[in-house]
Amino acid sequence: MGKAISKVSLDSLRKYPDPACDILIKALAAYHNQDSSKVFVGVGSDDVLAMSFLTFFNSERPVLFPDITYSFYDVWADLFRIPHEQMPLDEDFKIKASDYEKPCGGIVIPNPNAPTGVAEPVEFFEKIVAAHPECVVIIDEAYVDFGSQSCIGLTDKYDNVLVVRTFSKSRAMAGNRIGYAIGSPELIKYLSDCKFSFNSYTMDTITLAAGVASVEDDDYFKEK
Ligand SMILES: *Cc1c(COP(=O)(O)O)cnc(C)c1O
Repeated sequence: MGKAISKVSLDSLRKYPDPACDILIKALAAYHNQDSSKVFVGVGSDDVLAMSFLTFFNSERPVLFPDITYSFYDVWADLFRIPHEQMPLDEDFKIKASDYEKPCGGIVIPNPNAPTGVAEPVEFFEKIVAAHPECVVIIDEAYVDFGSQSCIGLTDKYDNVLVVRTFSKSRAMAGNRIGYAIGSPELIKYLSDCKFSFNSYTMDTITLAAGVASVEDDDYFKEK
């Protein structure tokens, strides 16, 4: 990654970065065996998540997420005036699937949940996703690389699930600010439309190069 950064020429910083972040999207698509049309990148997963709230949570029904979870969800919901409801965990700090059966305006759940660290298997999320074809279910996989099952496979089967990832934890690149989402081409298109209406040039040239180098050096990533 250091090499990739030092190879970026100062001259290249005179120009705007690629707003489509093409090289990083291609690297991530290849890494996850997905089509590029299913990948969206943003400035950290906080950016991707906030953009997703803005893009997908427009219903009058409440968006559901756990009570004890990542502390930014209710901040964005309040900021964007999205009705929301937090569902309490059970006595073992687990998420109760039955809480997420009711009609709603969307769902967001980290897997593993943060800060509890409790993870659920893919089938747990598949039931929730399948029960809600009318809304978007976001699965925040910030800590998935530390040993839980990924739900990226669900994006091949369901067009209403968005899996959000970050380079900040398992890749130890929080300073670069790289996050991404994998979902159906429709969801990715809506997210991109929202991003391009907001600020097209979010990821800088140096970060794009560092991100590609990290994704391509998988031996190093797996060894650490
Ligand atoms: C750290 C974290 C994020 C944000 O990560 P960035 O990519 O650094 O913005 C999002 N969700 C959860 C659950 C996190 O722990």
